Amino acid sequence: MAIRFEKSFTQQEPIPEEAIARAAEILRSGRLHRYNTAPGETAEASLLEEEYAAWQGARFCLAVTSGGQAMQIALRATGVKPGTKVLANAYTLAPVPGALHAAGAEVVLVEIDRNWHTDIADLCAKADATGATHLMLSHMRGHICDMDAIMQAVRDFDLTLIEDCAHTMGARWKGIRSGNFGHVACFSTQTYKHMNSGEGGFLTTDDPDIAARAVVTSGSYMLYGAHGAIPEEAVFRRQRLEAPNSSARIDNLRAALLRAQLPGLEDNVRRWNERYDVLSRGFAAIPGIRVPERAQHEAYVGSSFQFQVTGLAPERIPELVAGCAARGVEIKWFGADEPQGFTSRFDSWRYLGDVPDLPQTRAVLATTCDIRVPLTFAPEDCAVIVQIAGEELAALGT
Ligand SMILES: *Cc1c(COP(=O)(O)O)cnc(C)c1O
Repeated sequence: MAIRFEKSFTQQEPIPEEAIARAAEILRSGRLHRYNTAPGETAEASLLEEEYAAWQGARFCLAVTSGGQAMQIALRATGVKPGTKVLANAYTLAPVPGALHAAGAEVVLVEIDRNWHTDIADLCAKADATGATHLMLSHMRGHICDMDAIMQAVRDFDLTLIEDCAHTMGARWKGIRSGNFGHVACFSTQTYKHMNSGEGGFLTTDDPDIAARAVVTSGSYMLYGAHGAIPEEAVFRRQRLEAPNSSARIDNLRAALLRAQLPGLEDNVRRWNERYDVLSRGFAAIPGIRVPERAQHEAYVGSSFQFQVTGLAPERIPELVAGCAARGVEIKWFGADEPQGFTSRFDSWRYLGDVPDLPQTRAVLATTCDIRVPLTFAPEDCAVIVQIAGEELAALGT
């Protein structure tokens, strides 16, 4: 009988016991709001900001309700207004175009290449043709593109760079942490990302004025001084009346969950990559599958795995997905015409207006499949996933 995979692709690990204990204390105190502190007490949210700034190696950090809110705030804090032209790679998750739309940006989508990286030539051509002032660079599914080339384009076209690090928290490129290249970086701590507070996110920056605008925009009222990892009062004096309140504050309960997870993040990165490497080596050996080599200087976090199906016509990929699903293996396909679950393609973000077609991105996504790698999978589980996918693809006669 054919083997079946029994584990859930959406089951994360439990929240650490010390986080549960701290959460219970906070619940008993009733002081969940970040500005609700007892005399002499520093809020959990502010402590988290100091600790994440130190971990990330950024001067300033703001914790917020979601990665999507971090992006909206980053756009506003870097001066995006209705009509501002913002370049963005077209392969990403819906909160990215959503944040751009909410900030009023005129979005200029950029092609990706066959390794899921932003196409640098298309980026430069569109920066030149449109006069865009910002680049929202989404390190989608953890694939970090040539950051030397990106930073060259940032300098050549005088772009403000915002990094979407939802899938690169803990990753590095040439030893530098993802998020420390741009003017601002955004992270998500939603359940399916690298730390789990249910919902949540961070914004980091080294720029005092961006930091002050971001803090006030997150909804600090005039209580910004209670935050951790912030610039001096004089900067807030300059910025505090310029920033609209968007009520995107994190609460002390979520902050406590994240504080307890941060010390274990580096070890979790190692564990993700152990699992990723089994998938990567295994899938690369299946005839009809392409697994792009990752750049030597990219230290990725393998919390999800992507591959391209080259041995099957793209319109037959749903048969592979169905065959694997029948045996318990959940594969997502980025080539579908209709958005499904968490997955959508650039042409379904209709609110962006008339988006020109991106034939190269469309072609790459037509063969692109994706597997989630929760840490509740053991490396041996990943080997079973490889076996099932290999058998199902072979059965379709590649
Ligand atoms: C999850 C995600 C976000 C936003 O995160 P939320 O916290 O869910 O708002 C942004 N970009 C990418 C690529 C993501 O996967």
